[in-house]
Amino acid sequence: MASLPTGESSTVVVVGSGLAGLRSAETLRTEGFRGRLVLVGAERHRPYDRPPLSKQYLAGTWGLDRLQLRSGEAFGALGLDLRLGVPAVACDPKLRTVDLADGETVGWDGLVVATGATPRTFVGIEGVPGVHVLRTVEDADRLAASLGRVVPGTVQAGAGGSPATGHRVVVIGAGFIGSEVAATARGLGASVIVVEPLAAPLARALGDQVGAVCGALHQEHDVDIRTGTGALALVLADGTRLALDAMAPVTRTAATAATVPRVAVVAVELSDETAVPADTVVVGVGVVPATGWLSGSGLEVRDGVVTDGTLHAADGIVVAGDIARWPVRDSGATVRLEHWTNASEQGVAAARSLLAGRGDASAFDPVPYVWSDQYDVKIQVIGVPSADDDLVVVDGDLASRRFVAVYGRQGAITGAVGFGRPRQLMTLRPLVERRATMSEAQSALSG
Ligand SMILES: Cc1cc2nc3c(=O)[nH]c(=O)nc-3n(C[C@H](O)[C@H](O)[C@H](O)COP(=O)(O)OP(=O)(O)OC[C@H]3O[C@@H](n4cnc5c(N)ncnc54)[C@H](O)[C@@H]3O)c2cc1C
Repeated sequence: MASLPTGESSTVVVVGSGLAGLRSAETLRTEGFRGRLVLVGAERHRPYDRPPLSKQYLAGTWGLDRLQLRSGEAFGALGLDLRLGVPAVACDPKLRTVDLADGETVGWDGLVVATGATPRTFVGIEGVPGVHVLRTVEDADRLAASLGRVVPGTVQAGAGGSPATGHRVVVIGAGFIGSEVAATARGLGASVIVVEPLAAPLARALGDQVGAVCGALHQEHDVDIRTGTGALALVLADGTRLALDAMAPVTRTAATAATVPRVAVVAVELSDETAVPADTVVVGVGVVPATGWLSGSGLEVRDGVVTDGTLHAADGIVVAGDIARWPVRDSGATVRLEHWTNASEQGVAAARSLLAGRGDASAFDPVPYVWSDQYDVKIQVIGVPSADDDLVVVDGDLASRRFVAVYGRQGAITGAVGFGRPRQLMTLRPLVERRATMSEAQSALSG
Protein backbone atom coordinates (compact mmCIF):
# COMPACT_ATOMS: atom_id res chain seq x y z
CA MET A 1 0.00 0.00 0.00
CA ALA A 2 1.18 3.54 -0.73
CA SER A 3 2.35 5.83 2.04
CA LEU A 4 -0.30 7.54 4.15
CA PRO A 5 -1.27 11.03 2.97
CA THR A 6 -0.05 13.50 5.59
CA GLY A 7 -1.98 16.60 4.49
CA GLU A 8 -4.83 18.33 6.23
CA SER A 9 -7.55 16.29 4.53
CA SER A 10 -6.19 13.01 5.95
CA THR A 11 -7.47 11.43 9.21
CA VAL A 12 -5.72 9.03 11.55
CA VAL A 13 -7.61 7.52 14.48
CA VAL A 14 -5.59 6.25 17.43
CA VAL A 15 -7.68 3.95 19.61
CA GLY A 16 -6.24 3.67 23.12
CA SER A 17 -4.95 6.66 25.08
CA GLY A 18 -2.22 4.89 27.02
CA LEU A 19 1.52 5.00 26.47
CA ALA A 20 1.54 3.31 23.05
CA GLY A 21 -1.31 5.49 21.77
CA LEU A 22 0.37 8.67 23.01
CA ARG A 23 3.75 7.76 21.49
CA SER A 24 2.15 6.96 18.16
CA ALA A 25 0.22 10.27 18.12
CA GLU A 26 3.38 12.20 19.00
CA THR A 27 5.36 10.41 16.33
CA LEU A 28 2.75 11.07 13.66
CA ARG A 29 3.06 14.77 14.42
CA THR A 30 6.85 14.87 14.62
CA GLU A 31 7.09 12.93 11.34
CA GLY A 32 4.95 15.49 9.55
CA PHE A 33 1.34 14.32 9.77
CA ARG A 34 -0.74 17.53 9.53
CA GLY A 35 -4.18 15.99 9.20
CA ARG A 36 -6.92 15.29 11.73
CA LEU A 37 -5.63 13.12 14.55
CA VAL A 38 -8.37 11.59 16.70
CA LEU A 39 -7.40 10.01 20.03
CA VAL A 40 -10.07 7.68 21.42
CA GLY A 41 -9.71 6.48 25.02
CA ALA A 42 -11.94 4.44 27.29
CA GLU A 43 -10.46 6.22 30.31
CA ARG A 44 -11.40 9.82 30.91
CA HIS A 45 -7.84 10.80 31.88
CA ARG A 46 -5.09 12.21 29.70
CA PRO A 47 -2.42 9.54 29.09
CA TYR A 48 -0.77 8.59 32.38
CA ASP A 49 1.93 6.21 33.51
CA ARG A 50 1.03 2.81 34.96
CA PRO A 51 4.31 1.55 36.52
CA PRO A 52 4.08 3.93 39.53
CA LEU A 53 0.60 2.57 40.32
CA SER A 54 2.13 -0.45 42.07
CA LYS A 55 5.08 1.53 43.45
CA GLN A 56 5.28 5.26 44.34
CA TYR A 57 1.60 6.06 43.78
CA LEU A 58 0.37 3.09 45.82
CA ALA A 59 2.93 3.91 48.51
CA GLY A 60 1.50 7.43 48.67
CA THR A 61 4.81 9.15 47.83
CA TRP A 62 3.65 10.36 44.38
CA GLY A 63 0.41 12.15 43.61
CA LEU A 64 -1.69 12.08 40.44
CA ASP A 65 0.23 14.98 38.88
CA ARG A 66 3.41 12.89 38.71
CA LEU A 67 1.65 10.14 36.75
CA GLN A 68 0.93 12.40 33.77
CA LEU A 69 2.98 11.30 30.78
CA ARG A 70 2.98 14.84 29.32
CA SER A 71 2.27 18.31 30.63
CA GLY A 72 -1.04 19.87 29.63
CA GLU A 73 0.88 22.20 27.33
CA ALA A 74 2.82 19.47 25.53
CA PHE A 75 -0.31 17.36 25.18
CA GLY A 76 -2.32 20.31 23.88
CA ALA A 77 0.38 21.09 21.31
CA LEU A 78 -0.35 17.79 19.56
CA GLY A 79 -3.60 19.26 18.27
CA LEU A 80 -5.61 16.12 18.94
CA ASP A 81 -9.30 15.64 18.39
CA LEU A 82 -9.99 14.00 21.76
CA ARG A 83 -12.61 11.37 22.58
CA LEU A 84 -11.66 10.50 26.17
CA GLY A 85 -14.03 8.45 28.29
CA VAL A 86 -15.60 7.03 25.13
CA PRO A 87 -14.54 3.47 24.22
CA ALA A 88 -14.44 2.26 20.65
CA VAL A 89 -16.95 -0.55 20.19
CA ALA A 90 -16.36 -1.71 16.61
CA CYS A 91 -14.03 -1.36 13.66
CA ASP A 92 -14.69 -1.92 9.96
CA PRO A 93 -11.42 -2.14 8.02
CA LYS A 94 -13.24 -2.21 4.65
CA LEU A 95 -15.31 0.91 5.28
CA ARG A 96 -12.42 2.39 7.25
CA THR A 97 -14.51 3.36 10.24
CA VAL A 98 -14.45 3.04 14.00
CA ASP A 99 -17.70 3.12 16.00
CA LEU A 100 -17.67 4.74 19.42
CA ALA A 101 -19.82 3.91 22.45
CA ASP A 102 -21.62 7.25 22.20
CA GLY A 103 -22.94 6.39 18.75
CA GLU A 104 -20.42 8.39 16.71
CA THR A 105 -18.75 6.75 13.72
CA VAL A 106 -15.32 8.12 12.83
CA GLY A 107 -13.79 7.51 9.40
CA TRP A 108 -10.04 7.15 8.94
CA ASP A 109 -7.27 6.89 6.38
CA GLY A 110 -5.02 5.27 8.97
CA LEU A 111 -5.77 3.49 12.25
CA VAL A 112 -3.55 2.79 15.25
CA VAL A 113 -4.82 0.01 17.52
CA ALA A 114 -3.36 0.58 21.02
CA THR A 115 -6.01 -0.57 23.48
CA GLY A 116 -3.60 -2.37 25.81
CA ALA A 117 -4.79 -5.07 28.14
CA THR A 118 -7.36 -5.75 30.85
CA PRO A 119 -6.63 -7.56 34.12
CA ARG A 120 -7.96 -11.04 34.62
CA THR A 121 -9.87 -11.89 37.73
CA PHE A 122 -11.92 -14.80 39.05
CA VAL A 123 -15.51 -15.09 37.92
CA GLY A 124 -17.99 -13.99 40.57
CA ILE A 125 -15.71 -11.91 42.81
CA GLU A 126 -15.82 -8.53 41.08
CA GLY A 127 -17.05 -5.84 43.42
CA VAL A 128 -16.50 -7.80 46.64
CA PRO A 129 -15.27 -5.21 49.16
CA GLY A 130 -11.57 -5.70 49.89
CA VAL A 131 -10.84 -7.51 46.59
CA HIS A 132 -8.74 -5.68 44.02
CA VAL A 133 -7.04 -5.80 40.63
CA LEU A 134 -4.54 -3.15 39.57
CA ARG A 135 -4.45 -1.56 36.16
CA THR A 136 -5.93 1.93 36.38
CA VAL A 137 -5.49 4.91 38.64
CA GLU A 138 -8.96 4.22 40.09
CA ASP A 139 -7.87 0.65 40.90
CA ALA A 140 -4.82 2.07 42.68
CA ASP A 141 -6.93 4.58 44.62
CA ARG A 142 -9.28 1.84 45.80
CA LEU A 143 -6.38 -0.41 46.80
CA ALA A 144 -4.61 2.45 48.60
CA ALA A 145 -7.79 3.21 50.49
CA SER A 146 -8.13 -0.44 51.42
CA LEU A 147 -4.54 -0.41 52.72
CA GLY A 148 -5.42 2.01 55.49
CA ARG A 149 -6.41 5.02 53.41
CA VAL A 150 -3.03 5.95 52.01
CA VAL A 151 -3.58 9.27 50.28
CA PRO A 152 -1.47 9.50 47.10
CA GLY A 153 1.17 12.23 47.29
CA THR A 154 1.02 12.67 51.06
CA VAL A 155 3.43 10.04 52.37
CA GLN A 156 7.06 11.14 52.60
CA ALA A 157 9.45 8.70 50.95
CA GLY A 158 11.64 7.02 53.54
CA ALA A 159 9.77 8.63 56.41
CA GLY A 160 8.94 5.23 57.80
CA GLY A 161 5.21 5.89 57.78
CA SER A 162 3.21 2.71 58.41
CA PRO A 163 -0.40 3.50 57.50
CA ALA A 164 -1.19 -0.17 56.89
CA THR A 165 0.19 -1.63 60.12
CA GLY A 166 -1.91 -4.56 61.26
CA HIS A 167 -3.62 -4.80 57.88
CA ARG A 168 -3.62 -8.30 56.39
CA VAL A 169 -3.03 -8.53 52.64
CA VAL A 170 -3.20 -11.67 50.52
CA VAL A 171 -1.74 -11.33 47.03
CA ILE A 172 -2.87 -14.02 44.59
CA GLY A 173 -0.18 -14.46 41.93
CA ALA A 174 3.52 -13.59 42.18
CA GLY A 175 4.10 -12.14 38.73
CA PHE A 176 5.55 -8.66 38.32
CA ILE A 177 2.49 -6.78 39.56
CA GLY A 178 1.68 -9.12 42.45
CA SER A 179 5.31 -9.03 43.59
CA GLU A 180 5.46 -5.24 43.43
CA VAL A 181 2.19 -4.81 45.30
CA ALA A 182 3.46 -7.21 47.97
CA ALA A 183 6.65 -5.15 48.36
CA THR A 184 4.77 -1.84 48.51
CA ALA A 185 2.11 -3.11 50.94
CA ARG A 186 4.86 -4.49 53.16
CA GLY A 187 6.62 -1.11 53.01
CA LEU A 188 3.40 0.45 54.29
CA GLY A 189 3.47 -1.87 57.28
CA ALA A 190 0.90 -4.49 56.18
CA SER A 191 1.44 -8.17 56.86
CA VAL A 192 1.53 -9.83 53.46
CA ILE A 193 0.99 -13.37 52.21
CA VAL A 194 1.70 -14.14 48.56
CA VAL A 195 0.12 -17.24 47.04
CA GLU A 196 1.68 -18.62 43.85
CA PRO A 197 0.95 -22.01 42.24
CA LEU A 198 4.35 -22.13 40.50
CA ALA A 199 7.60 -23.06 42.24
CA ALA A 200 8.77 -19.45 42.69
CA PRO A 201 7.71 -15.84 42.17
CA LEU A 202 8.25 -14.62 38.60
CA ALA A 203 9.06 -18.20 37.59
CA ARG A 204 7.11 -17.89 34.34
CA ALA A 205 9.16 -14.89 33.23
CA LEU A 206 12.55 -15.63 34.76
CA GLY A 207 12.65 -19.36 35.54
CA ASP A 208 12.82 -21.16 38.89
CA GLN A 209 16.40 -20.26 39.82
CA VAL A 210 16.04 -16.49 39.48
CA GLY A 211 12.48 -16.77 40.79
CA ALA A 212 13.85 -18.34 43.97
CA VAL A 213 16.03 -15.25 44.45
CA CYS A 214 12.87 -13.13 44.25
CA GLY A 215 11.25 -15.42 46.80
CA ALA A 216 14.21 -14.97 49.17
CA LEU A 217 13.95 -11.21 48.72
CA HIS A 218 10.32 -11.29 49.87
CA GLN A 219 11.17 -13.53 52.79
CA GLU A 220 13.93 -11.19 53.87
CA HIS A 221 11.19 -8.55 54.18
CA ASP A 222 8.95 -10.87 56.21
CA VAL A 223 6.52 -11.56 53.42
CA ASP A 224 5.02 -15.03 53.72
CA ILE A 225 5.54 -16.59 50.28
CA ARG A 226 3.44 -19.69 49.66
CA THR A 227 4.73 -21.17 46.41
CA GLY A 228 3.27 -24.32 44.90
CA THR A 229 -0.01 -23.17 46.42
CA GLY A 230 -3.23 -22.06 44.76
CA ALA A 231 -6.05 -19.89 46.07
CA LEU A 232 -9.23 -21.98 46.09
CA ALA A 233 -11.92 -19.68 47.46
CA LEU A 234 -12.70 -16.38 49.14
CA VAL A 235 -14.60 -16.43 52.40
CA LEU A 236 -16.83 -13.42 53.07
CA ALA A 237 -17.84 -11.91 56.41
CA ASP A 238 -21.26 -13.60 56.30
CA GLY A 239 -19.69 -17.02 55.70
CA THR A 240 -20.34 -17.11 51.94
CA ARG A 241 -17.68 -19.09 50.08
CA LEU A 242 -16.83 -17.91 46.56
CA ALA A 243 -14.88 -20.58 44.65
CA LEU A 244 -11.98 -19.30 42.54
CA ASP A 245 -12.30 -21.80 39.72
CA ALA A 246 -12.75 -19.76 36.56
CA MET A 247 -11.01 -16.66 35.28
CA ALA A 248 -12.22 -13.89 33.00
CA PRO A 249 -11.20 -10.32 32.15
CA VAL A 250 -12.60 -7.72 34.54
CA THR A 251 -15.74 -6.08 33.22
CA ARG A 252 -15.89 -2.96 35.40
CA THR A 253 -19.61 -2.60 34.77
CA ALA A 254 -22.21 -1.42 37.26
CA ALA A 255 -24.29 -4.48 36.39
CA THR A 256 -21.58 -6.82 37.66
CA ALA A 257 -21.12 -4.83 40.84
CA ALA A 258 -24.83 -5.07 41.55
CA THR A 259 -24.90 -8.86 41.28
CA VAL A 260 -22.18 -9.67 43.81
CA PRO A 261 -22.64 -9.68 47.58
CA ARG A 262 -21.64 -6.39 49.22
CA VAL A 263 -20.07 -8.28 52.10
CA ALA A 264 -16.33 -7.95 52.62
CA VAL A 265 -13.73 -10.67 52.19
CA VAL A 266 -12.31 -12.00 55.44
CA ALA A 267 -10.20 -14.99 54.40
CA VAL A 268 -8.74 -16.93 51.49
CA GLU A 269 -8.82 -20.72 51.37
CA LEU A 270 -5.65 -22.20 49.94
CA SER A 271 -4.80 -25.49 48.26
CA ASP A 272 -2.54 -26.42 51.20
CA GLU A 273 -5.75 -26.82 53.21
CA THR A 274 -5.23 -23.68 55.23
CA ALA A 275 -7.39 -20.57 55.26
CA VAL A 276 -5.56 -17.29 55.77
CA PRO A 277 -7.29 -14.19 57.14
CA ALA A 278 -7.43 -11.26 54.74
CA ASP A 279 -8.55 -7.64 54.97
CA THR A 280 -7.40 -6.99 51.40
CA VAL A 281 -6.99 -9.45 48.53
CA VAL A 282 -5.08 -8.44 45.41
CA VAL A 283 -5.65 -10.58 42.34
CA GLY A 284 -2.54 -10.49 40.16
CA VAL A 285 -3.19 -13.32 37.73
CA GLY A 286 -2.29 -11.61 34.50
CA VAL A 287 -4.01 -9.62 31.80
CA VAL A 288 -5.74 -10.28 28.50
CA PRO A 289 -5.37 -8.05 25.46
CA ALA A 290 -8.29 -5.60 25.07
CA THR A 291 -9.50 -6.91 21.72
CA GLY A 292 -13.26 -7.21 22.35
CA TRP A 293 -14.08 -4.14 20.25
CA LEU A 294 -12.39 -5.79 17.24
CA SER A 295 -14.62 -8.85 17.10
CA GLY A 296 -16.20 -9.04 13.66
CA SER A 297 -13.52 -6.76 12.18
CA GLY A 298 -11.80 -9.59 10.32
CA LEU A 299 -8.45 -8.75 11.90
CA GLU A 300 -6.58 -11.80 13.17
CA VAL A 301 -6.98 -11.90 16.94
CA ARG A 302 -4.98 -14.60 18.74
CA ASP A 303 -4.04 -13.53 22.26
CA GLY A 304 -3.48 -10.05 20.83
CA VAL A 305 -3.88 -8.60 17.36
CA VAL A 306 -1.52 -10.39 15.00
CA THR A 307 0.62 -8.18 12.77
CA ASP A 308 3.33 -8.62 10.18
CA GLY A 309 6.91 -7.63 10.98
CA THR A 310 6.09 -3.96 10.29
CA LEU A 311 3.26 -3.96 12.89
CA HIS A 312 0.59 -3.82 10.17
CA ALA A 313 -2.53 -5.90 10.87
CA ALA A 314 -4.02 -4.84 7.52
CA ASP A 315 -3.47 -2.08 4.98
CA GLY A 316 -3.76 1.20 6.86
CA ILE A 317 -3.96 -0.48 10.29
CA VAL A 318 -1.04 -0.74 12.71
CA VAL A 319 -0.95 -2.13 16.24
CA ALA A 320 1.22 -1.15 19.23
CA GLY A 321 1.72 -1.92 22.91
CA ASP A 322 0.37 -4.67 25.15
CA ILE A 323 -2.18 -5.67 22.50
CA ALA A 324 0.28 -6.30 19.64
CA ARG A 325 1.50 -9.77 18.65
CA TRP A 326 4.24 -9.65 16.03
CA PRO A 327 6.72 -12.10 14.46
CA VAL A 328 10.16 -12.39 16.02
CA ARG A 329 13.06 -12.05 13.60
CA ASP A 330 14.16 -15.33 11.96
CA SER A 331 12.09 -17.54 14.24
CA GLY A 332 8.59 -18.08 12.86
CA ALA A 333 7.31 -17.44 16.41
CA THR A 334 5.21 -14.46 17.42
CA VAL A 335 5.50 -12.56 20.66
CA ARG A 336 3.36 -10.19 22.69
CA LEU A 337 4.98 -8.19 25.48
CA GLU A 338 3.39 -6.36 28.40
CA HIS A 339 6.16 -3.91 29.18
CA TRP A 340 6.51 -0.16 29.26
CA THR A 341 9.53 0.16 26.96
CA ASN A 342 7.91 -2.06 24.36
CA ALA A 343 4.73 0.04 24.38
CA SER A 344 6.77 3.21 23.97
CA GLU A 345 9.06 1.91 21.21
CA GLN A 346 6.23 0.17 19.41
CA GLY A 347 4.06 3.30 19.48
CA VAL A 348 6.82 5.15 17.66
CA ALA A 349 7.53 2.30 15.24
CA ALA A 350 3.86 1.70 14.44
CA ALA A 351 3.31 5.38 13.59
CA ARG A 352 6.33 5.41 11.29
CA SER A 353 5.16 2.20 9.71
CA LEU A 354 1.69 3.63 9.10
CA LEU A 355 3.17 6.70 7.43
CA ALA A 356 5.50 4.63 5.25
CA GLY A 357 2.75 2.25 4.10
CA ARG A 358 2.78 -1.50 4.43
CA GLY A 359 5.08 -2.22 1.49
CA ASP A 360 7.80 0.26 2.48
CA ALA A 361 7.77 0.09 6.27
CA SER A 362 10.72 -1.29 8.23
CA ALA A 363 10.52 -4.32 10.47
CA PHE A 364 10.12 -3.77 14.22
CA ASP A 365 13.05 -5.63 15.74
CA PRO A 366 13.85 -4.36 19.24
CA VAL A 367 15.88 -5.70 22.14
CA PRO A 368 13.05 -5.86 24.66
CA TYR A 369 13.62 -4.38 28.11
CA VAL A 370 11.60 -4.57 31.32
CA TRP A 371 12.30 -3.43 34.84
CA SER A 372 10.64 -4.07 38.16
CA ASP A 373 11.27 -2.30 41.49
CA GLN A 374 10.83 -4.51 44.54
CA TYR A 375 11.95 -3.27 47.96
CA ASP A 376 15.32 -1.63 47.29
CA VAL A 377 16.19 -3.83 44.30
CA LYS A 378 15.83 -2.91 40.65
CA ILE A 379 15.30 -6.05 38.57
CA GLN A 380 16.02 -5.53 34.86
CA VAL A 381 15.58 -7.94 31.98
CA ILE A 382 16.70 -7.60 28.37
CA GLY A 383 15.76 -9.89 25.49
CA VAL A 384 13.01 -12.50 25.64
CA PRO A 385 14.23 -15.30 27.90
CA SER A 386 12.16 -18.42 28.46
CA ALA A 387 11.74 -20.03 31.84
CA ASP A 388 13.35 -23.26 30.58
CA ASP A 389 16.41 -21.62 28.98
CA ASP A 390 19.90 -22.39 30.31
CA LEU A 391 21.05 -19.90 32.93
CA VAL A 392 24.61 -18.80 33.67
CA VAL A 393 25.53 -16.21 36.29
CA VAL A 394 28.16 -13.94 34.71
CA ASP A 395 28.58 -11.32 37.43
CA GLY A 396 28.02 -11.37 41.19
CA ASP A 397 26.14 -14.28 42.73
CA LEU A 398 22.55 -15.32 43.31
CA ALA A 399 22.95 -15.62 47.08
CA SER A 400 23.89 -11.95 47.49
CA ARG A 401 20.96 -10.91 45.27
CA ARG A 402 23.34 -8.65 43.32
CA PHE A 403 24.10 -10.35 40.01
CA VAL A 404 23.77 -10.55 36.24
CA ALA A 405 22.77 -13.84 34.62
CA VAL A 406 22.37 -14.70 30.95
CA TYR A 407 19.75 -17.01 29.49
CA GLY A 408 20.52 -19.10 26.44
CA ARG A 409 19.27 -21.82 24.15
CA GLN A 410 21.61 -24.04 22.18
CA GLY A 411 24.53 -21.85 23.23
CA ALA A 412 23.03 -18.57 21.96
CA ILE A 413 21.92 -15.80 24.29
CA THR A 414 18.17 -15.22 24.51
CA GLY A 415 18.24 -12.61 27.27
CA ALA A 416 19.81 -11.44 30.49
CA VAL A 417 18.63 -10.42 33.93
CA GLY A 418 20.28 -8.12 36.45
CA PHE A 419 19.51 -7.54 40.12
CA GLY A 420 20.88 -4.16 41.20
CA ARG A 421 23.41 -4.21 38.35
CA PRO A 422 22.21 -1.73 35.67
CA ARG A 423 25.60 -0.85 34.15
CA GLN A 424 26.79 -4.45 33.89
CA LEU A 425 23.49 -5.60 32.42
CA MET A 426 23.51 -2.94 29.72
CA THR A 427 27.02 -4.04 28.69
CA LEU A 428 25.32 -7.21 27.45
CA ARG A 429 22.72 -5.43 25.33
CA PRO A 430 24.70 -5.57 22.04
CA LEU A 431 25.40 -9.25 22.67
CA VAL A 432 21.70 -9.99 23.18
CA GLU A 433 20.95 -8.03 20.02
CA ARG A 434 23.28 -10.12 17.86
CA ARG A 435 22.48 -13.32 19.74
CA ALA A 436 26.07 -13.90 20.76
CA THR A 437 27.17 -17.06 22.50
CA MET A 438 26.86 -17.63 26.25
CA SER A 439 30.66 -17.77 26.53
CA GLU A 440 30.99 -14.34 24.87
CA ALA A 441 28.71 -12.96 27.59
CA GLN A 442 30.89 -14.53 30.27
CA SER A 443 34.04 -12.97 28.79
CA ALA A 444 32.34 -9.57 28.36
CA LEU A 445 31.80 -9.23 32.09
CA SER A 446 34.86 -11.02 33.37
CA GLY A 447 37.34 -8.49 31.87
C1 LIG B 1 0.45 -1.55 38.05
C2 LIG B 1 1.34 -1.70 36.86
C3 LIG B 1 2.73 -1.63 37.02
C4 LIG B 1 3.57 -1.79 35.92
N1 LIG B 1 4.93 -1.73 36.12
C5 LIG B 1 5.75 -1.89 35.06
C6 LIG B 1 7.17 -1.85 35.24
O1 LIG B 1 7.68 -1.67 36.35
N2 LIG B 1 7.95 -2.04 34.15
C7 LIG B 1 7.43 -2.26 32.90
O2 LIG B 1 8.20 -2.44 31.94
N3 LIG B 1 6.09 -2.30 32.71
C8 LIG B 1 5.24 -2.12 33.75
N4 LIG B 1 3.89 -2.16 33.56
C9 LIG B 1 3.36 -2.44 32.21
C10 LIG B 1 3.19 -1.17 31.39
O3 LIG B 1 2.59 -0.17 32.15
C11 LIG B 1 2.33 -1.51 30.18
O4 LIG B 1 3.07 -2.42 29.40
C12 LIG B 1 1.98 -0.30 29.35
O5 LIG B 1 1.16 0.57 30.10
C13 LIG B 1 1.24 -0.71 28.08
O6 LIG B 1 0.84 0.43 27.40
P1 LIG B 1 -0.32 0.34 26.30
O7 LIG B 1 -0.47 1.74 25.80
O8 LIG B 1 -0.08 -0.76 25.37
O9 LIG B 1 -1.63 -0.08 27.12
P2 LIG B 1 -2.41 0.66 28.27
O10 LIG B 1 -1.48 1.42 29.14
O11 LIG B 1 -3.26 -0.38 28.90
O12 LIG B 1 -3.32 1.69 27.50
C14 LIG B 1 -4.39 1.27 26.70
C15 LIG B 1 -5.52 2.24 26.84
O13 LIG B 1 -6.55 1.87 25.93
C16 LIG B 1 -7.79 1.97 26.58
N5 LIG B 1 -8.78 1.14 25.92
C17 LIG B 1 -9.03 -0.19 26.10
N6 LIG B 1 -10.06 -0.59 25.32
C18 LIG B 1 -10.46 0.50 24.64
C19 LIG B 1 -11.47 0.73 23.68
N7 LIG B 1 -12.26 -0.24 23.23
N8 LIG B 1 -11.61 1.99 23.18
C20 LIG B 1 -10.79 2.99 23.61
N9 LIG B 1 -9.82 2.82 24.52
C21 LIG B 1 -9.64 1.59 25.03
C22 LIG B 1 -7.50 1.56 28.00
O14 LIG B 1 -8.51 2.02 28.87
C23 LIG B 1 -6.16 2.25 28.23
O15 LIG B 1 -6.35 3.56 28.69
C24 LIG B 1 3.02 -2.01 34.64
C25 LIG B 1 1.62 -2.07 34.47
C26 LIG B 1 0.80 -1.93 35.58
C27 LIG B 1 -0.69 -2.02 35.39
